[in-house]
Amino acid sequence: MNEEATPAGTTVRFRCGHGADAAEARVTLQRQCPLCMLLAETRRSRDQLLRRVAPNGRAALARETRIGASYEWICSRGHSRYQASVRETLTGPGCPKCARNARAPAARFEGGVPFMKPGLKTRTSQAEQRLRMLLGERIALPHRVNAIRINRTFYGKPEVWPDIIIPAVNVAIEYDSPGRDKTAHRGLKEVSDREKDAALEEVGWAVIRVRADGLESLGPHSIVTAGVTDALVDEILTMVAEIRGAAAVAALLNRDPGD
Ligand SMILES: [Zn+2]
Ligand SMILES: [Zn+2]
Repeated sequence: MNEEATPAGTTVRFRCGHGADAAEARVTLQRQCPLCMLLAETRRSRDQLLRRVAPNGRAALARETRIGASYEWICSRGHSRYQASVRETLTGPGCPKCARNARAPAARFEGGVPFMKPGLKTRTSQAEQRLRMLLGERIALPHRVNAIRINRTFYGKPEVWPDIIIPAVNVAIEYDSPGRDKTAHRGLKEVSDREKDAALEEVGWAVIRVRADGLESLGPHSIVTAGVTDALVDEILTMVAEIRGAAAVAALLNRDPGD
């Protein structure tokens, strides 16, 4: 044990028994030592603290009274050992790697990951179903994903639910139609569509918007269409090739549709 690790002010003894030995104490304070006070405040025991310190510091920490004293600690999550004061260890993550992880929400690492959201029911129009069917005849479309994790929230959820998801090329397809009352996808809906696209682009996805029934183009990735036909599917695949490259599309194509 080195000199720094021995408690300072060895002539002072605290009520908790820490500090100077009873025989050597000039002053005995009727309160707990600072470390025991911080343990009480943070609802931890000294035994719990001792389990976290590196073995060579255990004896010193058992008698430690100073919350500013520095020790080497073992991260409970298996990161490398780190140097920190008793105060830092008791009041924060202590471990710099754990602190970094705490600042970055777990969702940051999952942004862009497509997944299956069970029980997700979205109204699907016949035109959209037909588009999915025609597209599925040309390329492999997975049925096991219906949502994509994003790095922000969209209508309070950390995910979006595009109409059609092609995970192999990170492309989502939205089929936009004004619907029966001709007002959907205009005004506020358009703002929210753009926000949805931005949320997906942020996590590495491109969105192709099929604009049907008189809707105008929303940008370079919009396809204004008069109807769901094989020609529309060709246009979509051409656009995927423009975005991700012809090789990426070639890899998607069903070699043998009857298979
Ligand atoms: Zn104490
Ligand atoms: Zn850690």
